[in-house]
Amino acid sequence: MKTALYPGTFDPITYGHIDIAKRASQIFNRVIAVVAENPSKNPLFSVEERLEMVTESLMDVKNLEVIRYDGLIVDCLRENNGSVIIRGLRALSDFEYEFQMAYTNRNLYSVAETVFFMPSSKYTYLSSTMVKQIGRLNGAISDFVPDHVKMRLQKKFSISS
Ligand code: ADP
Repeated sequence: MKTALYPGTFDPITYGHIDIAKRASQIFNRVIAVVAENPSKNPLFSVEERLEMVTESLMDVKNLEVIRYDGLIVDCLRENNGSVIIRGLRALSDFEYEFQMAYTNRNLYSVAETVFFMPSSKYTYLSSTMVKQIGRLNGAISDFVPDHVKMRLQKKFSISS
């Protein structure tokens, strides 16, 4: 049984993340979405809020669980008897950082294999950062995030719908 972890900040989860998680769940027996605290990224949402949004967004995916983890992803992999790290690749701009992370994780834990998925082309230019920027200015984000995430963003930015 292959367990794969899908780590991320998910600040907030978008349809791009959801697309990747669903693709991974079709290939691996068990997928665990791992919400990283990532204080260095200064997230807009608390880790608890992000965990709730990820759980709600992916509850229809049967072989997928959601956890939070504040340590190294390779330690999380060890603890869950996993060997695969899922990451999404959008444009070329993701590549350098992801390449470095994949090799670093393999150096830290030799069984760690990073597998990249490409999202549907409509999500290639979608990022949590972009969603937050548009949301902050009360722009239309319904094509990018589920309604429950949109409502949380509106609440954060004190926008009444
Ligand atoms: P991190 O801080 O770990 O990069 P993110 O939540 O920003 O966390 O991203 C988690 C993973 O999801 C990364 O591999 C990222 O490339 C991927 N991802 C984010 N948005 C998209 C998208 N629109 N399409 C495909 N992959 C995405």
